[in-house]
Amino acid sequence: MLFGRTKKNPIKIADKGIKEWKYAACGYCSTGCSIEVGFNAEGKPVSSRGVADADVNRGKLCLKGIFEHELFDSAGRGTVPLMREHWHQKWQKSDWDTALDKTHDEIRRIQEKYGRDSFAIISTGQMLTEEFYTLGKLTRGLIGTNNYDGNTTLCMASAVSGYKRSFGSDGPPGCYEDFEHTDCLIAWGSNLPEQHPIIYWRMKEAQEKRNFPLIVIDPRVTMLAQNAHMHLAITPGTDVVLQNAMMYVILDEGLEDKEYIEANTNGLEALRAEVANYNPVTAQKICGIDEDTIRNVARLFAKAPAAMQIWTMGINQSTHGSDGVVGINNLALLTGNIGKPGGTSLSITGQCNAMGTREWSSCSGLPNHRVLESAQDREDVAKFWNIDPEFFPKKRGMFQTDIYAAIETGEIKGLWLIATNPLSSLPNTARIRKAMEKLEFCVVQDCYQDSESNQYAHVFLPAGTWAEKDGVMTNTERRISRITPLMKAPAESKPDLWIFNRMAERFNKEGKVNFPEKAGDIFLEMGELSVGRLADISGMDHEMLEQKRGVQWPYSAKQKEAGEEPPKGGKRLYTETATFRHADGKAKLIPLPFIDNNEVPDDKFPFWLNTGRLIEHWHGRTKTGKIGNNNKYSPIPFIEINPDAAVELGIQRGDYVRLVSRRADAVVMATPTQRVAKNMVFLPFHFHDCANRLTLGLLDPHSRQPAYKQNAVRIERIKDQKAAAKLSMEMRKF
Ligand code: SF4
Repeated sequence: MLFGRTKKNPIKIADKGIKEWKYAACGYCSTGCSIEVGFNAEGKPVSSRGVADADVNRGKLCLKGIFEHELFDSAGRGTVPLMREHWHQKWQKSDWDTALDKTHDEIRRIQEKYGRDSFAIISTGQMLTEEFYTLGKLTRGLIGTNNYDGNTTLCMASAVSGYKRSFGSDGPPGCYEDFEHTDCLIAWGSNLPEQHPIIYWRMKEAQEKRNFPLIVIDPRVTMLAQNAHMHLAITPGTDVVLQNAMMYVILDEGLEDKEYIEANTNGLEALRAEVANYNPVTAQKICGIDEDTIRNVARLFAKAPAAMQIWTMGINQSTHGSDGVVGINNLALLTGNIGKPGGTSLSITGQCNAMGTREWSSCSGLPNHRVLESAQDREDVAKFWNIDPEFFPKKRGMFQTDIYAAIETGEIKGLWLIATNPLSSLPNTARIRKAMEKLEFCVVQDCYQDSESNQYAHVFLPAGTWAEKDGVMTNTERRISRITPLMKAPAESKPDLWIFNRMAERFNKEGKVNFPEKAGDIFLEMGELSVGRLADISGMDHEMLEQKRGVQWPYSAKQKEAGEEPPKGGKRLYTETATFRHADGKAKLIPLPFIDNNEVPDDKFPFWLNTGRLIEHWHGRTKTGKIGNNNKYSPIPFIEINPDAAVELGIQRGDYVRLVSRRADAVVMATPTQRVAKNMVFLPFHFHDCANRLTLGLLDPHSRQPAYKQNAVRIERIKDQKAAAKLSMEMRKF
């Protein structure tokens, strides 16, 4: 009998007439795939493919990367600077000098009238690292506001905070190669196949060879959970309870790595005293995982010769986000699983260059993980930039999530938004909308003119995107990759670096501070500032990064001079004894008392609202919503609802329903599935004016990251399905 393709016509791949392939790195997620864009004889980008000799993706791309070349001429791009006196007026076309002069004058007017910190700047994880560094120099060194942050507060702040608390510095210690060495993998709130498909492929390939146990901890039966040996459907927001209970078992049964703990950590006794309160018998009632499972997983993890943990937003986007990261680190430290092949705690990052902004933007401090609280760090950077160290504030300013509250209360009067869209991405968007209306001056710098937040701008600065620019990005495993400019930014739009440099000229009239024009020169300047630090990049340059298809930091000038080649894959941090970045070189074991402060379901709002990502889309769909092959698979907002709950509410597949939270409501289509429990719905966050109308977004006390995943809603079936369909169409923007 003949099966499959033998009876079908062979697949024909269309000849797109490609004359040349050009190199870049993918501009969507932080996996860091190397990509080549194919150009036809007319110089038009017509195809994308993975780069075979790149260690990260080894020739593969996911659905977003495959169509990335279509971004260059997608709809809604900004083409010319725009200005208006009031945000509710029509835009008038302007020119760069007028728009930049106006922006400079308004920043200084507001600062002179209300104080230096009354003007806020919010950037992104989307730009290139040289752009982040230049914006940081301009903001910290010349403009001088301390209320400067990135939208990475919405995705990675808890990971940063947790790493700093445990290890004394940000910087994921592991790498993708760890999948090939591990004997046990726990994934906390991470749905790799949909969020990071190429990392999933790396993990899956390693797992198929060695069949190490995969344990997924997630309230929802995600695609990763479906492929796991064990799925622990935890009660939302209680990860810290499960972590404490696992540590209880490890310490109670003497499974900890005593030698490693003694040589590398502080704080064991305080941790032991706290976890004594989390006997699995009592913990199971809070976290929803039964006692036997807690014990089994703790033993499996502790006894594995090398055990690895990964996590994403399921941990970070919580009121206990930073504690959840510290809990993961505690488990790793107790069992000696840091800095060895297959033993690590690896935060899987979100945006393509969230790591670059963490390292170089100066958002939360000063470049290369330096902090404003250190006199030495202020002195070093001030000297390097040729400014007065007293110009720097002595502690960090507001986080992004606090800036909007300060606009609400009138403390902040002006705002510069760069490649970020708070009206889509912040929780409780009705509140953000009201805050934005209060601004005396708002400038939006973005490649897309149709970003929702641009509704409230007085000046719009059209920027280039992705491979219209020159520079580098850092991925999840600290690998720095080169982006080469493949296309010119359209019409009069300009690369962000050009915009920052022109703005710097206006604040730097005496020319005291140097702002190089070329990304390659800026990278070398950053290298000088990195010598001897954890994230030392002084041995790298743009040419090397392109030729090697990315290099992991650290790679120093000393190593280069000694003839040491950067490793192709598999560089780890903290491989030597007592090399953590706290003053004594040791990591901290930190007790984590649990306080239940989430919004939880009740009689009026009986369902957990869980939000997350789909494979086809990227964040607010400003990009993927305009690319046919991404949009057609997931064009409308929908919820996953348990079939039994749907029956009880009289809801059928494809019905439109109204989700109602204490903040607002949203109309979505119902998709019954066993992926969610009877008291939970899952709503993708990508759609315009939808998920974040509903979310409350209580903030983590350490990282100020919002809890997007722990909210309560009720579900109402809509009688007039036609009208509901129309309403839902509104959310299909683009
Ligand atoms: Fe791009 Fe991420 Fe997909 Fe790789 S996995 S192609 S980096 S979106």
